[in-house]
Amino acid sequence: MIADSFGRVHDYLRISLTDNCNFRCFYCMPEEDYDFTPASRLMQTDEIVQLARIFVEQGVKKIRLTGGEPLVRKDAATIIAALGKLPVELVITTNGTRIAEMLPIFKEAGIKTVNISLDTLQPEKFMLITRRDVFHQVRSNIELLLQEKITVKINMVVMKGLNDGEIKDFINWTKHNPIQVRFIEFMPFSGNKWTSNKMFSYQEILNQIEKDFTVLPVEGSPNDTAKNFMIPGHDGSFAVISTMTAPFCNTCNRMRLTADGKLKNCLFSDGETDLLTALRNLQDVVPMIKASIWSKKKELGGQLMTHFEKLDADAIKNRSMITIGG
Ligand code: SAM
Ligand code: SF4
Repeated sequence: MIADSFGRVHDYLRISLTDNCNFRCFYCMPEEDYDFTPASRLMQTDEIVQLARIFVEQGVKKIRLTGGEPLVRKDAATIIAALGKLPVELVITTNGTRIAEMLPIFKEAGIKTVNISLDTLQPEKFMLITRRDVFHQVRSNIELLLQEKITVKINMVVMKGLNDGEIKDFINWTKHNPIQVRFIEFMPFSGNKWTSNKMFSYQEILNQIEKDFTVLPVEGSPNDTAKNFMIPGHDGSFAVISTMTAPFCNTCNRMRLTADGKLKNCLFSDGETDLLTALRNLQDVVPMIKASIWSKKKELGGQLMTHFEKLDADAIKNRSMITIGG
């Protein structure tokens, strides 16, 4: 069992397969000419499987593949197939561009839930945010997943003045589709131009939805990072990930393995533990994992304790989101 000094058991591992991506979402990547980590410095397929197996032996029950865009990695299919053999719930977060070709592999590996990032339902705005003209491809891939009865969760980062006016459109989408839309508060990371006035808070999101719909809270599972809601008569549902204004750290069970093999005990931790080098040097990584999680801070990596309006994003010591693995 992996636990921290506050008694939180950690049984959920998020593995970043790459810091490479075919999108350029401005809130996630530092800049257009960002240098991706060379393949030799990333965990290799067998190293990912080896580390994942060690975590599973220590009690991990759920693994999420993320990135960067996990599906741009050339050996993504091999990795997914190998991890699918472990006794864990395997899930993935993707930008949705490569679903059609990967669907057979998802099914084979037993992936039953796919989280897709989609911040707008307007093709021109999609282009503005991602700098890629593939809105319709992502939309049709979402339809494909729904046809295949795979659970779809849509991640929408809400940014004031950019897409907050679309919250109602996303809610309308849940009327006849069994999707869960997850509205995410915009978070600060290295180089992502975060300012508090671009943030659209949990309460603002809820207020906006309640203007047009009857909203009922839904009890989530114990380690949920989202506050869950339903609207009577809608096939789908929605949730809010309120990291900035109402963090859910007291039930956190998450660990993050970056694509270059570093363990982060929190999304906002400034420290990391180099498991990949240790693995390559044939060291026992289990004590390193346990020590890292034991040293986890109570809340938000100990870095975002102030009220978000007073937060100095430049003072936060962290990687960019794309190099952490969201
Ligand atoms: N490429 C995949 C994708 O876009 O779904 C997986 C990686 S992405 C880093 C994971 C999630 O992090 C996405 O849903 C993305 O919207 C979210 N994300 C990235 N930067 C963020 C930020 N600054 N604030 C909140 N969420 C963010
Ligand atoms: Fe790529 Fe996902 Fe980041 Fe967008 S949010 S740049 S799709 S990793």
